[in-house]
Amino acid sequence: MKKNIELYFDTELSDFFRVKSGISYPLDRRASIKDIIEAQGVPHTEVGEIFVDDRPVNFSFIASGGQKVIIKAVQAPFEIFKPSLLRPNSFKNMRFVVDVNVGKLAPLLRMMGYDTFFDNELRDKEIVLLAHEQKRVVLSRDRALLKHGLIEFGRLIRSQKSDEQLKEVTAFFGLNCEMIYTRCMRCNHLLREVKKEQIVHRLEPKTKKYFYRFSICHGCDRIYWPGSHWEKLNKLMKIARIC
Ligand SMILES: [Zn+2]
Repeated sequence: MKKNIELYFDTELSDFFRVKSGISYPLDRRASIKDIIEAQGVPHTEVGEIFVDDRPVNFSFIASGGQKVIIKAVQAPFEIFKPSLLRPNSFKNMRFVVDVNVGKLAPLLRMMGYDTFFDNELRDKEIVLLAHEQKRVVLSRDRALLKHGLIEFGRLIRSQKSDEQLKEVTAFFGLNCEMIYTRCMRCNHLLREVKKEQIVHRLEPKTKKYFYRFSICHGCDRIYWPGSHWEKLNKLMKIARIC
């Protein structure tokens, strides 16, 4: 006789992932609750709590027939610094790795000062390993990628527009603007302030005339000043009402 368990997804998960709540799932193989949930199309990164017969369990729990499983969505702001039952290996820093399908997030998060790795040639396997080894949060629109067990923290980005995506990430991870303009948008290295006379020979006449405060990138040697590279992105952040 086949054994079944009942799966109940909360509304947030069932609406977004179009998965039915209250389904009967046949236990025809030995599988962890993580695998069973992900077989319904919901990556583990989106799950905040799991209850089996009203008891909280972790992702490796093996269900047996007749049990009732409640799956709750992760809630914002996502607490990545505190260990929890589902995610005992908490992080010490808010660092990201951005998948190619949300690549426009990289310069925006860097502008806010957050260490954000992005390389459009990185394959899924490499993203997973990088996230695991460097303890980075994975941002992606690829559900299959976020199902990988080595990914501790991640977020499936809902919007396709970069200002909305930034708004999503900022709200979901409780980001702030305390480190704004401290990191290079292009290469992710930290910036340092530089005296105008040290770089004046590299400036265009108008920049030389109207600007006084400059920063330089440790990595790629690019020079930054208010109102230059940041202008367009600043506008975008205002639209998204972030900083
Ligand atoms: Zn740079």
